[in-house]
Amino acid sequence: MEEKKEIDSKEVAVIEDIKRPQEVALFGQKAAGVLKDIVKQAKLIKNINGNEYMMFEGWQTVGKFFKTNAGVEWTKQVLNQSGDLQGFEARAYVQDEKGRIISTAESYCGKDETTWNNRPIFAMRSMAQTRACAKALRQVYSWVVVLAGYKPTPVEEMDGIEPNKPKSEIQIPKDPTEMKCQKCGQTITEKVYKFSMEKYNIPLCFNHQKELKDNPQENSIEEVVDVETVVGSEK
Ligand SMILES: [Zn+2]
Repeated sequence: MEEKKEIDSKEVAVIEDIKRPQEVALFGQKAAGVLKDIVKQAKLIKNINGNEYMMFEGWQTVGKFFKTNAGVEWTKQVLNQSGDLQGFEARAYVQDEKGRIISTAESYCGKDETTWNNRPIFAMRSMAQTRACAKALRQVYSWVVVLAGYKPTPVEEMDGIEPNKPKSEIQIPKDPTEMKCQKCGQTITEKVYKFSMEKYNIPLCFNHQKELKDNPQENSIEEVVDVETVVGSEK
């Protein structure tokens, strides 16, 4: 993370005190350009159904451009009706360099989400925090991210709200040679394609589906983000 901070300050001159809307817009455009380079280099973009979404670290980078930081206010356990842990709720904020809170947001991550029902508890907790931080940043900076050509929702939020599509809604490419495993490029059958899209939301061959199934954590983008390190200690 330290390295990334340095790139930011070198490449973008942060406006000391933004007063006029034109200045903000100009600065936003400049930030969007630099942002694009950084997120491409750091591979912080995920393609979901043909649209590009930026990961939390990218959103943090935007925040840094404007001399702001995201942090976690609190994290709470959410229990189900029988009193078992179901997930975590977190509240995050974005503060400017003077410590003023400019945005707050709450988010959740839990076992009731298909991608999360077998994940470790610490990862679920961490994701609730990441989502809350990402959401708080989105509320302030989605316009910059849109200027950079990405969708205004953080990947981590999509992970929670976008369920995998039912078979009937999965679009099969007209050209059968386009049905390829996204990992190895091997051509796959329509049946495999449909199954993979339904289950994993990306086209994968049988072997790579199995790999993902056997090691869901290593293949999951969520693990890239370590909230504790990124936003500092909890309050
Ligand atoms: Zn493959």
